[in-house]
Amino acid sequence: MKNIPSIQRTTTQPKDLVALRQAYQGWSNTPDPLTRLTRRLSTTLSLETQLGILAEEMGSIIPFDALSYRHQIARRDFVYATGMGGPHRCEYRLGLEGVCYGTLTLNRRHKFSDEELQGVEMIISAAICPLRNACQFIAIEQAALTDALTSIPNKRALDEHLQRASLLAERHAEEYSLILCDLDHFKEVNDQHGHVVGDHLLRLTAGALETAIRNSDSVYRFGGEEFAILLPHTGEQEARDVADRVRSAVANLRIDCGGTELSVTISCGVARYMPPEGAEQWITRADEALYRAKDQGRNCTRVFATIR
Ligand code: GH3
Ligand code: MG
Ligand code: MG
Repeated sequence: MKNIPSIQRTTTQPKDLVALRQAYQGWSNTPDPLTRLTRRLSTTLSLETQLGILAEEMGSIIPFDALSYRHQIARRDFVYATGMGGPHRCEYRLGLEGVCYGTLTLNRRHKFSDEELQGVEMIISAAICPLRNACQFIAIEQAALTDALTSIPNKRALDEHLQRASLLAERHAEEYSLILCDLDHFKEVNDQHGHVVGDHLLRLTAGALETAIRNSDSVYRFGGEEFAILLPHTGEQEARDVADRVRSAVANLRIDCGGTELSVTISCGVARYMPPEGAEQWITRADEALYRAKDQGRNCTRVFATIR
C-alpha cells in the first residue's frame, strides 16, 4: 500500500488564514494579465468561450485585427474566428507534450514587433493547458455520441437529435422523416462467415448509407445490425425514395470471403413525424413499418401510413 502523507497539525494557524485571504484577494483582483487569463479560462470547458476570453485578454495587451483558431477534433473541424483581416500574420501551432491542440492565427494591418510576438507566445503558453482540457472535453463528448465499431453517431446521438427535431417540427411546422434500416438475415452472415466478417459488413453498410444520403440527412447506428436515418424537410414519399436508394446502395456491396462474394440486403421502415408525439412514439411507428417490411418478404421499404 502507498504511504499517504499525513497532515501533522490538527488546528488551523490564524497566520495561514490571513495569508490565504490576502492571496485570494490578490488572485481575484490581480492586474496581472496572465493570472487573470488563466483564472478566467479555468471557469469554462467550452472551447468557444475560452477562445473568446483568450481573444479579449490578448487584445487588451497586443492589439490585432483578427484572431482565428482551427483544429480537427474527433474527425470534425472546429473553427473559431473573430475580427476581420489584415495582411500581417503570425501563426502558432499549439503543442503540448508532443500533441497538437490546434493552430492560432493573428492578423493585423501593421507588422507585429519582436516584443509583441514574444508577448503573444507568453499568453499562449499560459493558455495552452486550459485549451487542451477544452479540446479533450470535446473529444470525450464526441466519443460518447459515436459508435465505436462504425464511427457513425450512435443511439444516444439519435435520441438527442430526434428530441430536437420534434421540437423544431412542432415550432416551425417543418416536416421530418425517420427511416429505420435492419440488415436481413444478418445472424446467418455471422454464423457462416464469423463475427469479423459481420463487423466488416456493418462498417461497410454504415459507409454505404452515409454515401447514399444528402448532406442534410444523418445516419446513426441504432442497435446491433440496425441503422436509422433522420431526414429534415422530408415527407413520407421523399423518405420512401431515399429508403429505396439506400437499400440498393447496400445491396450493391460485395464482400470478398476467400473466393466467394458475399452480399446483403436491408429492410426499411419509414415514419414521418406527427406532432405532438414524442421521439419514442415516432421510433415505434417507424419500427412498426420495418416489422411489416420484414414480414412481407424483406429487402423492401414500408411506410407507416398516416391520414392527413
Ligand atoms: P432479420 O432479417 O429478421 O433481421 O434477421 P437477423 O438475423 O438479421 O436478425 P436477428 O435479430 O435474428 O439477428 C441479429 C444478428 O445481428 C445477431 C447478432 O449476432 C448480430 N449482431 C448484432 N450486433 C452485431 C455486431 O456488432 N457485430 C456482429 N458481427 N454482429 C452483430
Ligand atoms: Mg434487428
Ligand atoms: Mg436483421
